[in-house]
Amino acid sequence: MWDPSRHVKHIHVAADVAALEYTREICERANLPVSIVATGDNLPVLQEKGSFADSLAAGKKHLFLCRNRGEFFKPCPGTSAYQCCRYQVLNVGMNCPMDCVYCILQAYLNQPWLSAFVNIDDLYRQVDEALKSDPSRLYRIGTGEFADSLALERITGMAAKLVDFFAGYDNALLELKTKCAFIATLKDVDHRHRTLLSWSLNSQTIMKAQELRSASLAQRLAAAKQAAEWGYGLSFHFDPIVLHRNWQKGYEETVNLLFDQVPKEQVVWISLGALRYLPQLKTISMQRFPQSSMFRQEFVAGLDGKLRYFRSIREEMYSHLYRCIRKRAAEDTCIYFCMESDEIWHDVFGFTPDDRGGIPFMLDAAARRFMDKPVCF
Ligand code: SF4
Repeated sequence: MWDPSRHVKHIHVAADVAALEYTREICERANLPVSIVATGDNLPVLQEKGSFADSLAAGKKHLFLCRNRGEFFKPCPGTSAYQCCRYQVLNVGMNCPMDCVYCILQAYLNQPWLSAFVNIDDLYRQVDEALKSDPSRLYRIGTGEFADSLALERITGMAAKLVDFFAGYDNALLELKTKCAFIATLKDVDHRHRTLLSWSLNSQTIMKAQELRSASLAQRLAAAKQAAEWGYGLSFHFDPIVLHRNWQKGYEETVNLLFDQVPKEQVVWISLGALRYLPQLKTISMQRFPQSSMFRQEFVAGLDGKLRYFRSIREEMYSHLYRCIRKRAAEDTCIYFCMESDEIWHDVFGFTPDDRGGIPFMLDAAARRFMDKPVCF
């Protein structure tokens, strides 16, 4: 099975983390050439000729093991202009060996290589302090904000460490979001139903043409089925939903294949989000993927400055997908929008988040149902 970490060809280690046990563990497992980088230096890959856009492709072959000097654990930035879900982000690394045309990291990061933060004892300490500071709050936590949660798992083993760590808490649910299918390290971890394995899904036309080096739909769903058999909760994200020829049929097929394969009772939540992007992403993505027509459509600027499809188009796409999902999903799977307005919620779902206690309340309730009474396949 294709594993995107195979794309990595060289490991670089910051001198100040070279002696850490976790660093040594990764280098041994990766079995790749290793260079030590003096603390504060850049990687040689940055000095390649060409623009930053050109160096992004080269950077995906280089993994830098270093220290996270900032905070590991913080609230998702969300957006004040739209309904947000009060998610927490665990920042375990940056960038991804896969290459999606729409990936925001192309515009967001200022270094082209992949980074994995190896001062994991600091991560454990920071998370422990945060979770213990408010034991009555349920923390929904994801590592997939600046990286894919499982893309480097074969090399780093980070996800298995986190699943084991979060099994020790009753007020946190970890969500590992991915577009790959490598879950072997998670098989024998005693997760105590404190982890959801989560896949981003799309119509297969988009997956094949716009998500380079990602797992196929069949591979993602086979991995999800396996995860369910191991007792993990599941979640899925139809994001970004993209307008393309025969999109209705494409999304319907994906939904049907999903529920043909996985037990619906184990799906805790499903999110929907139409394509949205900052203007600078379009510039860099079109430079890197000139053959893609993804951004060659009409968009309107939203309240958060991101460009989106017109509201009527978003509503049509959401309504279609929602009908398809509702036909097959379990009654108590929480279906929600990522960053949409009350008007869209009302017109598509027939209610606003406030009618149901707010998005955080809806997701917390779904999380609690799974954590308190896990359904095993
Ligand atoms: S899988 Fe996610 S993080 Fe990786 S390139 Fe695609 S959108 Fe970006």
